[in-house]
Amino acid sequence: MSLCDDTLLCNFPKCRTKLSGFAWVTACSHVFCDQHGSGEFSRSPAICPACSSALSGKLDIVRTELSPSEEYKAMVLAGLRPDVVLDISARALAFWSYQVKYLSVCLCVNLALLCICEP
Ligand SMILES: [Zn+2]
Ligand SMILES: [Zn+2]
Repeated sequence: MSLCDDTLLCNFPKCRTKLSGFAWVTACSHVFCDQHGSGEFSRSPAICPACSSALSGKLDIVRTELSPSEEYKAMVLAGLRPDVVLDISARALAFWSYQVKYLSVCLCVNLALLCICEP
């Protein structure tokens, strides 16, 4: 299994459920299963159950589909400048490597990004 096939685990204490379907992602780089995300973040102010950060911003908590459709992937970054696309990709990769704790994680994705940069 390559590192790219790794699944994230819910960061809720003692949960560690393999995430699939939808997951809740926070600005403090934590991720939760649908059950814990919808339970914890429905109250206000929302507090991250993993690190106790206050999550008050509109985009501090995002419920994201982990396996988006081809239609979504085709359109979600369409129209953005290449530097914006790479910026978003870099942040998403930083989140992933923080979660997986391997600096060399997803080299294949980095290589794919390099290919985009080549003229
Ligand atoms: Zn959970
Ligand atoms: Zn957190």
